[in-house]
Amino acid sequence: MVTVRFAPSPTGYLHLGSARTALFNWLYARHTGGRFLLRIEDTDRTRSDPKFLEGILRDLRWLGIDWDGEPVYQSQRFALYRQEAEKLLAQGKAYMDGGAILFKVEKGRTIEYEDIVHGKISVATDEIKDQVLIKSDGSPSYNFACVVDDANLAITHILRGDDHISNTPKQILFYEALGLAPPRFGHMPLILGPDGSKLSKRHGGVSVEEYRKEGFLPEALVNHLILLGWFPGEEHEILAPEEAVRLFDIADLNAVQAKFDIQKLRWLNAEHIMRKKTEDLLPLIKEQLSAAGLDFAGLGGDHLLKLIDLYKVRMKTLREFVSLTECFFRDDFNVEEEGRKKYLDKAESKENIGLLADRLEALEEFTAAAIEEACRRLAEEKGLKPVSLIHPARMAVSGRTSGAGLFEMMELLGREKVLTRLRGASR
Ligand code: GLU
Repeated sequence: MVTVRFAPSPTGYLHLGSARTALFNWLYARHTGGRFLLRIEDTDRTRSDPKFLEGILRDLRWLGIDWDGEPVYQSQRFALYRQEAEKLLAQGKAYMDGGAILFKVEKGRTIEYEDIVHGKISVATDEIKDQVLIKSDGSPSYNFACVVDDANLAITHILRGDDHISNTPKQILFYEALGLAPPRFGHMPLILGPDGSKLSKRHGGVSVEEYRKEGFLPEALVNHLILLGWFPGEEHEILAPEEAVRLFDIADLNAVQAKFDIQKLRWLNAEHIMRKKTEDLLPLIKEQLSAAGLDFAGLGGDHLLKLIDLYKVRMKTLREFVSLTECFFRDDFNVEEEGRKKYLDKAESKENIGLLADRLEALEEFTAAAIEEACRRLAEEKGLKPVSLIHPARMAVSGRTSGAGLFEMMELLGREKVLTRLRGASR
């Protein structure tokens, strides 16, 4: 049975690169019906922090990456590492150096393995110095704890970032010395920014948390991370997680450079927002509104649903909903300067807005259809193009030159607010 693991060190929040590593291991396990384990590499007691561990687990759950069984903590397994190191000591394969236990690397050999992503890799042991197994403070080295645990947990495949490629020959030497068969290894190219440099804050953020707060859907982030290591084909570029699980093939993991592109992510996010059911967006939108300090308590649940419906095709992130719909939540909304000059400051606009207000006041039903009808009739009577009423009216009620359809907006705003704003702008 395929058994894979994700082995984060809780010394920082979940980085996009680590999230991709977790994701591919998870995809492989779920595709094959295997197991996906979590191992917490918390051997460095000074740098590990429970708040980072909590953050990592929360972000994994948010991404929809679930693990099997309970996580294994390396900090609780020091006795096991020592016991294995002492076996190697007893066999003369390791030696004491001060309080530390070191592994003796035999020179003049070549270590070779078939990398799942890169193909054949070989390294001369002449280039590998003797390796620390247990440090003088009693803690294990990363490489040794990793091998002891991967063997102990019966891990069959290790997918991780290229930054570990130089560790793998050392780990293979430990498997050999312990009389164990090594698992298969696959190293994925590091994630870069669109300009080919190391991914950094200026490319849009490096931690999953930043994207969550910015209003990206986990489906969209997962979708983009998948495309940074695997290309499921043109027709599957927009991919739901279940679909990815079904289609995933480890043989398709590729070594092409993985470039993270915030514009692509925004596009994918918009696509996933459009596909998501409005009622499933509701709690997420409420979170954004609360975070922005906007009060939506007065709006009926139904009202907010209609508003989301109106804007779900217009936002690239959930956070954008807040600025797009500001006029629904406050009367002192932002007013675009250009639009004001162009559509509100002219005497003619003021007059037309006033006339429109009269017509809307007289409507029996304040519905989008009735508003539209009244607006078009007024334009006709005055010999105006409808847009010469619509643009100023949109500016007056929302402060923006673009947005959802004016008539739907007005219906949702309600007659009272619309009239107050139109009258205000007509003076
Ligand atoms: N704790 C290591 C890391 O976060 C794990 C590497 C591995 O997967 O072996 O990079």
